[in-house]
Amino acid sequence: MLSFQDARRAILQTVPTMSTESAVLREAYHRILAADVVAGMDLPPFDNSSMDGYAIRSSDTANATGGNRMRLNIAGEVSAGQISRRELQPGTAVRIMTGAPIPEGADAVIEQELVDLRNGVIELHTRVAEGRNVRRRGEETQKGEIVLRKGTRLTPACVGVLASLGITHVELHVRPSVALLTTGSEIVGVEEPLAPGKIRNSNAYTLWGLVVESGGNPVDLGKAGDDEEEIRSKIELGLQNDVLVTSGGVSVGKHDLVLHVLKELGVAIQFWKVNIKPGMPMAFGLYRSAQSRIVPVFALPGNPVSTMVTFLQFVRPALTRMSGGVDDKPSLKLSAKLEHDIPKTDEKRHFSRGIVRNVQGNLFVRTTGSQSSGMLSSLVIANCLIVIPEERKDLKAGDEVEIELL
Ligand code: AMP
Ligand code: MG
Repeated sequence: MLSFQDARRAILQTVPTMSTESAVLREAYHRILAADVVAGMDLPPFDNSSMDGYAIRSSDTANATGGNRMRLNIAGEVSAGQISRRELQPGTAVRIMTGAPIPEGADAVIEQELVDLRNGVIELHTRVAEGRNVRRRGEETQKGEIVLRKGTRLTPACVGVLASLGITHVELHVRPSVALLTTGSEIVGVEEPLAPGKIRNSNAYTLWGLVVESGGNPVDLGKAGDDEEEIRSKIELGLQNDVLVTSGGVSVGKHDLVLHVLKELGVAIQFWKVNIKPGMPMAFGLYRSAQSRIVPVFALPGNPVSTMVTFLQFVRPALTRMSGGVDDKPSLKLSAKLEHDIPKTDEKRHFSRGIVRNVQGNLFVRTTGSQSSGMLSSLVIANCLIVIPEERKDLKAGDEVEIELL
């Protein structure tokens, strides 16, 4: 059976890259930069105070000690958003608020709680070093510097940095539209009554959220029963998007029709079945649309945990790659000590739901309990996946295992 690594490679080597567009900042979250961003200005744009206090000339305080107090006359006040017009004269201080520009002539700010204020005069009893409480122009970013590199996924902090540089638009890869089809005659919508033998469609909701988190644009095709006609008409619609993800109907049961329909519609199946647990029966295919676009198709198994795990391991990295990202695996490799034995007899790669905790600087991990792939609540309490390689057998308490944080 195909290995996990080969399956991932087959996907990442073939998915197309989305075109790029200019987007406003509020449309940029979670998406990936298509070009380096260069600062057009210094940050901060001017020397300013990091404290509420008094702007002074540090040389004025050279002789201040506990026994020898210095007195400086207050010569004015400057708040954030204002500028102080006069140059600070020796022997004087200017009351200054956090974020206000340092007046000409001043080179330090003494915190207001460190001075005594009397009749328009401050007294200080410590020497103040040059630069104290001064945020220098350009100390964070200098004009001309690359602040964010192509391939960066934009977090709120990244978008905030862009805003502080006065950048209103960024070049991003177009968000891939990801059509979602859930299949199974037992599936009913969340708002529908539950007839005997039916279960609710949780995958439609987990998949939607996973797509959003991965920077894609989810498109719900609804659900199809285990009926060729119904599946075909939905998949035909789905193939008009950039990516198609289906859940269910991809195993070897009598009613598992998804693969059959995909092939009939011209999807070239690249692989079916991967040597992993959960999620073994997943399939991946490529469809060439009438406009010669390549549409990656992921047929995921329907068990809710299998759906999520295969999405995280295969679909998410594919969406990242399509959106111009480099790699989606956490760059930080983490390992933890097992808190209990884990029996394992097969030669699959396991992704067990785990709970990792930090005990005095050491990571310990245990599983969430039953690893049934139908039990979605295991992914509610899990904070990591425990990755157990193919060749490892029965694990013992105390063994080191690799974990991937969720
Ligand atoms: P399948 O992959 O179609 O064989 O389905 C495997 C298991 O997952 C069955 O127990 C299904 O009832 C369940 N399942 C399939 N699709 C969904 C869904 N959309 N939401 C929740 N459970 C599902
Ligand atoms: Mg089914």
